[in-house]
Amino acid sequence: MANPIVAVVGRPNVGKSTLFNRIAGERISIVENTPGVTRDRIYAHAEWLGKHFSMIDTGGIEISDQPLLTQIRQQAEIAIDEADVIIFVVDVENGVTDADEQVARILYRSNKPVVLAVNKVDNPERRSDIYDYYSLGLGEPYAVSSVHGIGMGDLLDAVIKRFPDNAANEDDNSIHFSFIGRPNVGKSSLVNAILGENRVIVSNVAGTTRDAINTKFKTNDGQEFTMVDTAGIRKKGKIYENTERYSLMRSMRAIDDSDVVLVVLNAEEGIRELDKHIAGYAHEAGCGVIIVVNKWDTLKEKDHRTMTDFTNLIRQEFQYLSYAPIIFVSAKTKQRLNQLPALIEEVYDHHRQRIQSSVLNDVLMDAIAANPTPTQNGRRLRVYYGTQVATEPPTFVIFVNDPELMHFSYERYLENQIRKAFDFSGTPIHLIKRQRQ
Ligand code: GDP
Ligand code: GDP
Repeated sequence: MANPIVAVVGRPNVGKSTLFNRIAGERISIVENTPGVTRDRIYAHAEWLGKHFSMIDTGGIEISDQPLLTQIRQQAEIAIDEADVIIFVVDVENGVTDADEQVARILYRSNKPVVLAVNKVDNPERRSDIYDYYSLGLGEPYAVSSVHGIGMGDLLDAVIKRFPDNAANEDDNSIHFSFIGRPNVGKSSLVNAILGENRVIVSNVAGTTRDAINTKFKTNDGQEFTMVDTAGIRKKGKIYENTERYSLMRSMRAIDDSDVVLVVLNAEEGIRELDKHIAGYAHEAGCGVIIVVNKWDTLKEKDHRTMTDFTNLIRQEFQYLSYAPIIFVSAKTKQRLNQLPALIEEVYDHHRQRIQSSVLNDVLMDAIAANPTPTQNGRRLRVYYGTQVATEPPTFVIFVNDPELMHFSYERYLENQIRKAFDFSGTPIHLIKRQRQ
């Protein structure tokens, strides 16, 4: 939870996305078999020398209808708002340009740690050109060639050295959650409404970006929650906030820092492509998920079918989220908002639930007795036993004679039987098939 964030900024074509992909490496191409989830090259996880961090390619957040310079400046602002460390990329082939100088000034004023990467230094002869970049006032320029993977080690050493020391906020037992969703579904309204109803604890640990964007509160029964990303949600008025790519990046970031995410839909507008995209990421990340249908007050002609119809639509459009509870609320009238904390707590408990092996195996054996394992080419799948190996999300290893014989449909049957026996609502569960002679 709460990886440091590294943002990559710079003019178009200097090689930001090449550098981003180089650093993210294989990690970016996780197998994504959730419908609606495409590979987005704006946000990825990475690691250097055992330090894990998340990366944002601000170049991927296009702010259309803006002059180039405005776009670049806004991308720099996003980096300043979001990141713990900024990699500022320039292109050795161009020398220091006006745009580079402008961006450098913005970054310099922000007091955020900046590492200057002079890209496209493909051969040693070019190395002497990098000294011109001291004039940007951002300290030592690092010569890199993103295409060839040269200079990455020194660059990343410099980056991780600048990570904030976040040892201070470790002993935190509160439940971290966030509202995610496309622009205008009502995330900030929900945040404000929730904080209005609960006791806000101002825990002003000075320092890191993360502390500044989280709000802690306590419900009447004493449970502590941390609402992730509220400053970003509440500090409004920037043009880029209404772009799809920005809201996607924001959502992915919030997912990283949350135990439970609340995917917010707008009852007034129905389900859009971007909703599915965002929900898909939440599912892939393996956190707890609740679907919140907001603006329920806007549907005037409601009868007993309205909620059922909307539920059916959600189940059809988000099939992979069949485990997620759905709640219909209104930030405006506060309808059902008081139920949210308890629901979040419940999902959180399921996400961390541990099942004893003996009980699990009773369920598995009953399942097999009721619906015998399939055969293929005369060979029958044998399920020996299962055991839970992890929580958050609950992960089970099922030992079998041959994993190939476990078809998707049978695997789903076993998952359904497990879900019938134990309440895992709100959390994905993972089954891992493993061979045992
Ligand atoms: P972005 O717009 O800043 O994200 O730039 P891209 O990553 O799309 O790269 C722009 C162009 O520069 C592409 O044609 C890349 O292949 C090229 N490029 C990126 N890094 C290097 C490098 O280290 N050396 C050379 N020679 N070309 C590079
Ligand atoms: P965000 O972009 O997701 O943070 O959305 P906002 O919270 O800024 O809300 C977008 C607009 O929807 C604002 O004009 C809100 O007043 C309005 N809004 C938010 N929640 C509700 C609701 O439950 N009912 C109604 N009628 N309007 C809402």
